[in-house]
Amino acid sequence: MPAIADIQPEPVHQWLPMEKGLLLVAGPCSVESRDQLTETIQGLAATGKKIIVRAGIWKPRSRPGQFEGAGAKALPWLDQIRKSTGLPMAVEVARPKHVELCLKHNIELIWLGARTTVNPFMVQEIANAIQGTGLPVMIKNPVSPDFRLWMGAIERIVMAGTNKIIAVHRGFHTHLKSVYRNIPLWNIPLQLSKEIPGLPVICDPSHIAGDKTLIRQVAIQAMALKMNGLMIETHHQPEKALTDPLQQITPTLFNQLIDEINTMKEMDADENTLQTIRLHIDEHDYQLLELLAKRFALSVEVGKLKKKLGKSVVQPTRQEDLFRDREEKAKTLGLNISFVNKLMQLLHNESVVVQHKNK
Ligand code: PEP
Ligand code: MN
Repeated sequence: MPAIADIQPEPVHQWLPMEKGLLLVAGPCSVESRDQLTETIQGLAATGKKIIVRAGIWKPRSRPGQFEGAGAKALPWLDQIRKSTGLPMAVEVARPKHVELCLKHNIELIWLGARTTVNPFMVQEIANAIQGTGLPVMIKNPVSPDFRLWMGAIERIVMAGTNKIIAVHRGFHTHLKSVYRNIPLWNIPLQLSKEIPGLPVICDPSHIAGDKTLIRQVAIQAMALKMNGLMIETHHQPEKALTDPLQQITPTLFNQLIDEINTMKEMDADENTLQTIRLHIDEHDYQLLELLAKRFALSVEVGKLKKKLGKSVVQPTRQEDLFRDREEKAKTLGLNISFVNKLMQLLHNESVVVQHKNK
């Protein structure tokens, strides 16, 4: 097994076009038809940005019976688009047969999706299929927040003889509730960057956000964390997309977002920090609101139980204990005690109202 230090990624700017130091990957979640592909990629090419096209032609769907991508017949379409736009093509692979077909059609990069990285047997099969070809690979994080699985997939690909590798952070599926489709857990991709110096790590805000209105804030956060690029799902008519319609954006919106990011990069360092801090504050506010929702859901349960037990809603001893306990906790956290007392009083009052309503 190679030591981690054996992984020496080839500097990405030496083998891929970059847009002002950023690796930009854009294109449809899935290829649906030749027209959809052409319209979308022409829209991206018209931006003049240096883009790597992403095209899902074999889609791993959680449930059977859903659209699974155009399949192998889309490979000649990609060939044609490459010729007319000059943009490199990337395709998701999950089977050795997919790799074979991509090699036959001169696809420049392949990527492993989150549902593939999660399975070492599948990753090894793909690694065997690329053995000795040097085919560049993007490796998405596994669905679950398992750092070793992600690392293991990268090691297997490197052992197959390619050092043209890119890690893609697409967020994680956990039991934690989040406004996002996949919770980012930013420390995991940051740890990867630390453990494999020189590894390009890009962010996929589309699959993290799961909603087009949240893509911007995830992308900006990724840039603030100095990630090396972005993979963003784009569709000429997102609302009509056969897969992931909520999270795809038009080439025009993609272009605006990249322009905004480029402007931010030129911004004063303090302005940049201010933006980042605001994003953190937004995230914490969402978490606070989610916690409040959970707390009041418990008030409902407590209210019902008190009724069953014939107890009154307000229990003075419990109330006193609770206030004293929270004051102690506030002290250890260095919070303003009078503020915390007021907050607890508000929470308590609302909890009483909720309990009465649900009695
Ligand atoms: C995709 O890129 O369309 C995709 C299926 O993503 P993930 O593997 O991250 O779920
Ligand atoms: Mn998708």
